[in-house]
Amino acid sequence: MSDLEKRLAQARAEAGLADLPHGHFIDGGFHVPPALEEMESYDPGLGRPFATFANGTADDVDRAVLSARKAQRAWARTAPVERGRVLRRISDLILSEGRRLALVEMFDAGKRLGEAEGDVRSAARTFEYYAGAADKLEGAQIPVGNDYLAYTVHEPVGVVAQIIPWNYPLTSAVRGVAPALAAGCSVVLKPAEQTPFTALLLAEICSRAGLPDGVFNVVTGTGARVGGPLTAHPDIDHITFTGSVPTGSRVMAEAARNITRVTLELGGKSPHVLLADCDLDRAIPDVMGAIFENAGQICSAGSRLIVERSIRDAVAERLAKAMAGLKTGHGYANLDVGAVNSREQLKRIEDHVERAKSRGDALIAGGSRVEPEETPDGWYFAPTVIEASDPKDPIVQEEVFGPVLALQVAEDFDHAVALADGTDYALAGAIHTRDLTKAVRFAREVDAGQIYVNEYFAAPVEVPFGGNGKSGFGRAKGLEGLKTYCKLKSVTMKLV
Ligand code: NAD
Repeated sequence: MSDLEKRLAQARAEAGLADLPHGHFIDGGFHVPPALEEMESYDPGLGRPFATFANGTADDVDRAVLSARKAQRAWARTAPVERGRVLRRISDLILSEGRRLALVEMFDAGKRLGEAEGDVRSAARTFEYYAGAADKLEGAQIPVGNDYLAYTVHEPVGVVAQIIPWNYPLTSAVRGVAPALAAGCSVVLKPAEQTPFTALLLAEICSRAGLPDGVFNVVTGTGARVGGPLTAHPDIDHITFTGSVPTGSRVMAEAARNITRVTLELGGKSPHVLLADCDLDRAIPDVMGAIFENAGQICSAGSRLIVERSIRDAVAERLAKAMAGLKTGHGYANLDVGAVNSREQLKRIEDHVERAKSRGDALIAGGSRVEPEETPDGWYFAPTVIEASDPKDPIVQEEVFGPVLALQVAEDFDHAVALADGTDYALAGAIHTRDLTKAVRFAREVDAGQIYVNEYFAAPVEVPFGGNGKSGFGRAKGLEGLKTYCKLKSVTMKLV
């Protein structure tokens, strides 16, 4: 047994993988359906299954929605300050259970342990933030003259469905669950079939923190068996879907049948612009973090690097040098880059890169699978940079969702803005420059839900997040994220 295998065996025991929850979490407890069909969850770092979970059905969805409906009214009537206290206890418990949550997330998603630990801190912080916001959801008093009183109130939307992808299983779940609970909604969550476990552990934590039974339910399984029936359910008031454009489009069409509200958080192909005046010592590590963190499987990754021509050679040289030192391996080894989430995802990334090579795009670094010595059967792709001269090249236009950076050269600032704005996606955009005017113009002219200046991913939970165009619509995080789960009511009274 190699040294890593021994350490992994200890980590599995520490994470309690043998005692992971079984079944769905419905009405305050784990529920194993009578006709249980199981699926396997894989450790992407080894390419091997490590646990099983329930592949749910429409019946399980029905049961979870019924439980959420029954619990919602009382939860909405719980004093906002008390809802906030429950959320605060959830935040504390996430931190005290943090080691287990991080290990489970690492095994399930393939990410580096350090990244999984960061996700746990972020999840706790999100509950802390919305705990503080629960009793500050104020309406407005509107002046309509002496004989009237007009005001607005934010009411909870009701029962919310959350459909979650595999790249950030815990933090994507929390980003929707925490504000929905703060607003007084109840939730039925479907995690991705590749990464079901931290959502189940979170549900148990919420229950231990005092969240009433039925307010937060989790049904695991595939998109077809669980996601479809949840989306089509007539008793769902709002759907938050985070995932790919084709599935988002299907969810939206399904939601239209019942006139269900919907928030779509879809993909991206976000530009990271380096102007000639930028500080390359700061910018190069930032560029790498923006695309190689979580092996590039981030919707808002900085996956297009746009540089002014005068610094193109210096940037390419520095990038290739910095990347030559990057080590890829199992998440528990905590090297520079972890595994990609699934065999299918690895194949997709490889296909994108092979097609780019066959079109004659220039490979600057990486470009193939990696087989680390200790974990050769895991799913790994080398951090990759590909230069494309045609702005319509698929490597520039299509989301790869892996550690693959497309390099584009701009003749000047205006050209950089045009290239930055040149895809159907509009999730994020970033610029490195010392010129404030150009930074502000970039922020104004590039269509994106969020702009970063001189530091990618700079925005914490207080700052709203979401997309435009093919990246979706609606906002998570910040007070906007709380309003996503509210219905605005106006009251106008004649004073008689
Ligand atoms: P996906 O669309 O295949 O799956 C996402 C979720 O939808 C999963 O839980 C899946 O089971 C479920 N699903 C599948 N078919 C369904 C159906 N017919 N009805 C209802 N639910 C269904 O996406 P993926 O490959 O798992 O995730 C990667 C994508 O997610 C990328 O495009 C990425 O950019 C995007 N993403 C976006 C954000 C964001 O905040 N904008 C965050 C993370 C990931």
